Amino acid sequence: AEQIKLALEHEIANQGLARQVRMVLAGNLGLADKVPIVIVNPGYIMYANVSENDVSEIVSEHLIEDRPVSRLVMQTNTLFNRFYRVFGDVNFFGKQMRVTLRNCGIIDPESIEEYFAVRGYEALAKVLTDMSPRDVVNEIKASGLRGRGGAGFPTGLKWELTAREQGPVKYVICNADEGDPGAFMDRSAIEGDPHSLLEGMTIGGYAIGAKQGFIYIRAEYPLAIKRLEKALADARKMGMLGKNILETDFSFDIEIRLGAGAFVCGEETALIHSLEGHRGEPTPKPPYPSVRGAFNKPTIINNVETWANIPVIILDGAQWFSSIGTEKSKGTKVFALAGNVRNSGLIEVPMGTTLREIIYEVGGGIPNNKNFKAVQTGGPSGGSLPVQYLDTPIDYESLKQAGSIMGSGGMIVVDENACMVNMAKFFLEFTCDESCGKCTPCRVGTRKMYQILERITKGEGQMEDLKTLEELANMIKRTSLCGLGQSAPNPVLSTLQGFYDEYVSHIRDKR
Ligand code: SF4
Repeated sequence: AEQIKLALEHEIANQGLARQVRMVLAGNLGLADKVPIVIVNPGYIMYANVSENDVSEIVSEHLIEDRPVSRLVMQTNTLFNRFYRVFGDVNFFGKQMRVTLRNCGIIDPESIEEYFAVRGYEALAKVLTDMSPRDVVNEIKASGLRGRGGAGFPTGLKWELTAREQGPVKYVICNADEGDPGAFMDRSAIEGDPHSLLEGMTIGGYAIGAKQGFIYIRAEYPLAIKRLEKALADARKMGMLGKNILETDFSFDIEIRLGAGAFVCGEETALIHSLEGHRGEPTPKPPYPSVRGAFNKPTIINNVETWANIPVIILDGAQWFSSIGTEKSKGTKVFALAGNVRNSGLIEVPMGTTLREIIYEVGGGIPNNKNFKAVQTGGPSGGSLPVQYLDTPIDYESLKQAGSIMGSGGMIVVDENACMVNMAKFFLEFTCDESCGKCTPCRVGTRKMYQILERITKGEGQMEDLKTLEELANMIKRTSLCGLGQSAPNPVLSTLQGFYDEYVSHIRDKR
């Protein structure tokens, strides 16, 4: 995209249009197979898969002659409302509802003015002028929002527990330590719309009585960090952060803390230790961060997606938000849809959408006339669901009942050619590597499981290995200290349940 932007700038200057045309490097629209995408306004003409060779034609034909280059046009935009947009591929966008990602790919993420133009910081103004901290907590509770980081804990309740704690110092943290293989939801949300996160955190700070927030983000996300830094500086300049926000008594600021990319630092106690400058290792709970969190003070931690929902809930109301989704899982969910699907990319759907709708309608189905085999939800902590679960609705309870989890939103689809034993081994290798080593079941147990899987996939396994795998998996789940260990065996358990025959054929056929 940067190369296309440079080429366009060059061509636009050559054609003498530099004063009339404004270029914006926007965030991720979601359609990974169609990038780089160029949208020309007015008219919302979208060009897909643009190469440097197409640039001079776009400039001379479209910008000068006002004749869109039809061979590259994907479609024009139909704007339904703030949360529904259709860009050509109706199936890809038609089933989506973009609440968290409402501004991604739409506004210039480096312009606070463009964020203002889409009602940015209106929710903060509403909170500071019309609502008490108690009102804000009640509104978030009434919305039914649950933490999007994986566990699905009710966000309003978490805030209430922290607000209840006495004392002048409290903290707000954004967990942007996205580490699942194949996941890029947080990164895209920040790169495309950093102010939504800042606004959500500032509202959270007001609700619980905090003056300081931290964004814990992995250092491997340099563009997201750069855009956050710019957004923080602009928000301070415009009086949306810092002392006496919007000329009220409320003061709040946010600092970025970089993580070194350890998966375990997504666990909240490990994250807090790392943020404080210590080794990123989990500690037992209780005490929960709401009582004793960062620097031993009451702290709320939510992930990027959760925070980005807050301004919308405040502006459009808890009642509206809770009308989306299922009885116990409200709102929408962002997924990084990857693997063997035609339209891979960043998607957002209402809770309750089925796996089949996501894979076959949004994702466009399995390429190369292959059959669907399984979908892994919840990243390395989740499970692989076979074909009989395709009509499972996406919500916390249904996915758990099916043998997987929602997780933070990684979703990997595999076709009939995939070896599910190898897939389980891949995820287990990841969690083995990422285990912090603090407790024995996770440190030693996952390694033992991995060794067994290696034997099986080399054709050296025994049938007894399958029983041992299951015993080890259940023991590790029961006795590990943190979520990483407790969920590490899930890919193995779910594939033993759904694809037992594949384990057996590796052993029997010695392959
Ligand atoms: Fe560390 Fe694993 Fe124990 Fe968690 S379960 S504390 S990652 S060793």
